[in-house]
Amino acid sequence: MQDPGTQEIMDYTTVPVGLVIEGKLWTGHRTSSTATCPECGRNGVMSTWMKRRQIIVHCGRIEGNTLVGIDFCNLESDAT
Ligand SMILES: [Zn+2]
Repeated sequence: MQDPGTQEIMDYTTVPVGLVIEGKLWTGHRTSSTATCPECGRNGVMSTWMKRRQIIVHCGRIEGNTLVGIDFCNLESDAT
């Protein structure tokens, strides 16, 4: 039995880097593995690049099979 009022909050800043996490983000990005964020230096789940954008989720909420970012960084690439 699952209590629908309980939401699972995941804190990825404490997980070791290099852990493969396959899933989906609320943005449509797919996650790949944990890594250290170049923006803030904390660990998080790194997504694959999509439309020159990459998201690193440091803290998120699991909704079904989607990870919704609560605390995350956006990386944008302007290099081609
Ligand atoms: Zn970050």
